[in-house]
Amino acid sequence: MKLRNLLASLCVASVALGQTGERPYEGHKQIRVPAATRAVVEALDTLEADIWTHRIVPMRPIDLRLSPEQYASVLELGLAHVVVADDLQAVVDAEQARIAARAARDDIGWYDEYRTLDEYWVRWQSIVDANPGIASIDVAGRSIEGRDIPVIVLNGDGRTDKPVFVINACQHAREWLSPAATTFTIESLVNGYGSDPRITRLLDDMEWVFLPMVNPDGFDFSWTDERFWRKNKRMIDDRLRGVDLNRNWDINWGGPGSSSSPGSQTFHGDGPFSEPELQVFLSAIDSVGDRIVGHLDVHTHSQLVLSPWGYTRDAPADLAELNEVGEAFADGVLDATGAIYEVGQTATVLYLVSGGGSDWFYDEFGALSWTIELRPEGPITLPGFDPPPDQILPAGEELLEGTLRLAEEFTRHPADLDRDDRLTLFDYLRFQALWAERDPRADIDENGEFDAADLAAFDALFGS
Ligand SMILES: [Zn+2]
Repeated sequence: MKLRNLLASLCVASVALGQTGERPYEGHKQIRVPAATRAVVEALDTLEADIWTHRIVPMRPIDLRLSPEQYASVLELGLAHVVVADDLQAVVDAEQARIAARAARDDIGWYDEYRTLDEYWVRWQSIVDANPGIASIDVAGRSIEGRDIPVIVLNGDGRTDKPVFVINACQHAREWLSPAATTFTIESLVNGYGSDPRITRLLDDMEWVFLPMVNPDGFDFSWTDERFWRKNKRMIDDRLRGVDLNRNWDINWGGPGSSSSPGSQTFHGDGPFSEPELQVFLSAIDSVGDRIVGHLDVHTHSQLVLSPWGYTRDAPADLAELNEVGEAFADGVLDATGAIYEVGQTATVLYLVSGGGSDWFYDEFGALSWTIELRPEGPITLPGFDPPPDQILPAGEELLEGTLRLAEEFTRHPADLDRDDRLTLFDYLRFQALWAERDPRADIDENGEFDAADLAAFDALFGS
C-alpha cells in the first residue's frame, strides 16, 4: 500500500495523470432519492452511504454515491430513486482523460482546469515571488503522511498589531474547487496591492493568514487513487479509514452530526485535535490568536454562507451580527457573478455539525466565522461530485468579492453602525435600536449589561 502510494505520487509529479490501476468506483452509482423523509435519512444513515447533498431539506431530493453492495441494500429496502450516473468509474476516467489532454495544451489558463498538489506549490511560490514585500509562504508543518502544509501570510504595511483574517481551504480532499477559488483569491489580493486602492487599504489594515491546503494527503489521494476521498489518511488497525478533519475540532467534539464509526464520512477521530493536520493549523495561528477577528472555512458545494453554531440549534449570542455581516459576503457574490448564496446558521440551514472549524473559531476567539459552501447549488445536475472546470473562475470571483466585503466590515469604524462609511446621526439611531434589542454590539463596555455606561461609551467611540 505504502509503496503503491509512493509510486502514485511520483506519477503525478511527472504530470502523468490518472488514478492508479485499481478502479475503486467500478459499479458505483450516483443516485437521487426524490424526497428526504425521516425514514429515508435514517435508512441512508445505516448504509453509511456517501451523501453528496450538503443541504438536506425535508421532501427535497438527496444525491448520494453507493457501492454495488450499498445499492443492493437500497433495492432491498425498496427506496424510491433515480440513477443519475450508472458508473462513476466512467465519470472519473473521463475527467482524468480531459485533464491529461488539456495538460498538453498551452491555451489553457491556470484557473481553467483543476490542478495537482505539485502544481499548487509552484503557483503559490510564484504568487509570493511576485510581491515578496507583502506576501510570504511557509511550511506550517506536516500531515499524517509527511506532506507539507502551507501557510501564506499577506500583510501590506508589515504591522503586526492589527486585526487578523484567517481563511482556510480543503479540509475535505475531494472539494477541488475550494483550494482553486482560495488560491485565486490570494493571487488577486497580491496582484491588487499597490494598484487597487481598496485591496491596498485592506491589506494595510489587516493581516491575512491563508491555509489553502489543510489536507494535502487526502487531496493528493483524490488525484491518484480515490477521486471522492473526503477525509485525511489516518490508518486504523492497518486499514485506511481517515478522520473527517471538520469533525475533529475541539468544540462539542463527538456530539451530534459526527460519527464514532471509522467507516463513516463524518468519523470524528480519537479525540479533539487528534489529527496532525489540525495541530499544524493551530501552530500556524498560535502567535496571532488574540488578533483574529474573522475566519472562513471554504468548502463545496451548495452556495451557502453558514455561521455558528453548527453543533446546536441554539442561536449564538451574535447571530444578528453574523447574519448581517454574512449578508455582506452574499451581496459581494451577487455583484461578482449574480449567483445567490444563502446566509444562515449552520445547524438550522444545513444540519448539525459537531467538532467543526467555524464553531471553534467563534468559540475560541470570538471571531466572526463562516463555513462557505461554494457553487454550484444542489442538487447536482451533472454526474459526479465536482463541477466542470469552467466553474473555477466564477467561484474564485465570488470568494474574492465576498471576502473583500467581509474585510471591509472587519475594518469599519466601530461606531459606523449603519455602514455608510460616515459617522452621522443615523449611527446613533442604529445604536439605540441595537441597545433596545439587547444586541451584543450595543454592550460597548462588554460587561453583559445594557446601561448608561454603554451610551457614554458609544459617545466616546463616536468622537474618537
Ligand atoms: Zn466540505
